[in-house]
Amino acid sequence: MNDCLFCKIVNKEIPASIVFEDDKVLAFLDINPVSIGHTLVVPKEHSESIEDISTSALCDTMSALPTIAKGVVSGVGVKAYNLGSNVGKEAGQAIMHTHFHIIPREDGDGLKLWPQRQYTDQSEQEETANKIRQAIPIDKT
Ligand code: 5GP
Ligand code: ZN
Repeated sequence: MNDCLFCKIVNKEIPASIVFEDDKVLAFLDINPVSIGHTLVVPKEHSESIEDISTSALCDTMSALPTIAKGVVSGVGVKAYNLGSNVGKEAGQAIMHTHFHIIPREDGDGLKLWPQRQYTDQSEQEETANKIRQAIPIDKT
């Protein structure tokens, strides 16, 4: 994609601190890290998110993630990390090229997990589960 920032990084048109590369996947430091070592892992093939990525690009990326994550935490000297992907603008996705964040974590780093809430009652929980169950497409062929 001509105007995609991460495609430009993949194509080496824009510099980045690359920490891992193979023929399908690239990993580089986030320019505005949540914590030191915050790394972005991207498939080289352009897609907007896991909504439209090819199965092979997704598999290649997911297979590479644990190895890259082990290197990230070991390299910065911590043991834990958050792994995530913002899918869609409302979820905070700013760059429309599939990517996964590896965010190194340690005790006392001051970062907070997402705030959680409760269902109003058991029926709201069950109705929600039902709606989702019915909406998940199942290939019955
Ligand atoms: P998103 O919000 O789409 O999930 O994450 C995009 C990430 O890309 C952000 O954390 C942001 O800091 C990072 N980012 C934006 N522009 C650049 C850039 O030019 N180079 C690098 N290395 N990271 C970038
Ligand atoms: Zn792209």
